[in-house]
Amino acid sequence: MGKFSLMALPYEADALQPVISKDTIGFHHGKHLAAYVNNLNALLPGSGFEEASLEEIVCKASGGILNNAGQILNHELYFSQFRGKEASLLRGGLVGSAIKRDFGSFEAFKDEFQKKGASLFGSGWVWLSADKDGKLVITQEPNAANPVQKGLKPLLTFDVWEHAYYLDYQNRRPDHLAALWQIVDWNVVEGRYKR
Ligand code: MN
Repeated sequence: MGKFSLMALPYEADALQPVISKDTIGFHHGKHLAAYVNNLNALLPGSGFEEASLEEIVCKASGGILNNAGQILNHELYFSQFRGKEASLLRGGLVGSAIKRDFGSFEAFKDEFQKKGASLFGSGWVWLSADKDGKLVITQEPNAANPVQKGLKPLLTFDVWEHAYYLDYQNRRPDHLAALWQIVDWNVVEGRYKR
């Protein structure tokens, strides 16, 4: 056992079907994320980051420690923001108001978010974050990067690494991104915004 452990999913592996299949959850959470956890635990001894939090590692480390810690932080935010059949639709709240204020409408926000996810070249993540004044921004982050490295507070993310969608959507990344809105739990996003 190392310092970090694999997060438990807050839903059953088949709960997000048909948007994300049970097989994809099994590989993505049980194999890919588990490997990042095992890798980081193996790299920590003697690194100087033995006592650091994930966010501290992501802001200060480099190389393999940074990459594996970044992927753990990213995936913990990713998997915990979804729900199955009872996913809460955006009905307002502080983050709903901020989306309308900063993007004009929820549809305009979704459009920009999907376009930035679809156009990110290679592997990475598209993020909705808040800056220190609460203003919302959408950023593309390559590989294992996280908006905390820019002083932003991450609120919502779509994983555009192929392992996130290839079993279910093959090369159709835009279709996958468009479907993910059905399972976003906006109560979780709201909680992150208020924190
Ligand atoms: Mn992933």
